[in-house]
Amino acid sequence: MKVYLSGKLVDKKEAKISVFDHGLLYGDGVFEGIRVYDGNIFLLERHVDRLYASAQAICMKIPMSHSALTKAVVKTCKANRMKNGYIRLVVTRGVGTLGLNPYLCKKPEVIIIVSAIQLYPEELYKKGLSIITVGTMRNHPEAINPRIKSLNYLNNVMAKIEAIHGGVLECIMLNPLGYVAEASGDNVFIVKGKRIITPPTWCGALEGITREVVMELAPELGYDVKEDVLTRYDLYTADEVFLTGTAAEIIGVVNIDRRMIGKGKPGTVTQKIADRFSAFSKEAGTPIM
Ligand code: PMP
Repeated sequence: MKVYLSGKLVDKKEAKISVFDHGLLYGDGVFEGIRVYDGNIFLLERHVDRLYASAQAICMKIPMSHSALTKAVVKTCKANRMKNGYIRLVVTRGVGTLGLNPYLCKKPEVIIIVSAIQLYPEELYKKGLSIITVGTMRNHPEAINPRIKSLNYLNNVMAKIEAIHGGVLECIMLNPLGYVAEASGDNVFIVKGKRIITPPTWCGALEGITREVVMELAPELGYDVKEDVLTRYDLYTADEVFLTGTAAEIIGVVNIDRRMIGKGKPGTVTQKIADRFSAFSKEAGTPIM
């Protein structure tokens, strides 16, 4: 496997970074997770745009242009003969001192890793997920804004720990006002009649690219999509609940805090959206060759 590091493609075992990199010392950096479907990089442009927006928000200048970075991603996929898989694009603050000051870091480090990913076993897409809501709140927007896809994922990791300790694989995090924000690594949607609702980003949700695609595709299927504030009550009494994310794609939720959702299996709307998403994922890619 070849990894892109410091402007070069190197073997996986040579792909090492300094212990003084602030990505390691402080979680100071940004990242993206991107899928490759049938040799096409899914919505690469949108992911690169979000990466630059995250970097801008943390005063970090990515040391290459948008198009050079896009080319580097394609080149890394090509070198690994990538057909189907996952790309992890990471930009760390780079090597600095043991102090916090990011302006003492020499240069951000761009890393591109390609690999396989499988978040959930296949059967869970048929049976649906059981999840819980957790006590770990999503970051306040004026702490680390959840719209920044930063390397500081401790907030999400703490929530994931609670989920695992609670005997489930995923959880819903609420924001400091008690409203639904998102899952530890996915966005959340509810279905109520013909309406599909997801929390607005100000409630503490990442502007997920899968979320965005679902919001674009759902009206074509005859559903009305809107962003609205949700409470746990809305989740418990929804007809259907599903999660969206690059790795998970679209997965139905059938139980939350021991309340059965809908009929206790992934609903028809979730299935239709998942099928449409799957078709779209084959149409909207940047070819690697
Ligand atoms: N929320 C969080 C916290 C995430 O980490 C992710 C990505 N795994 C998502 C939502 C989904 O975003 P996307 O659809 O862009 O992968």
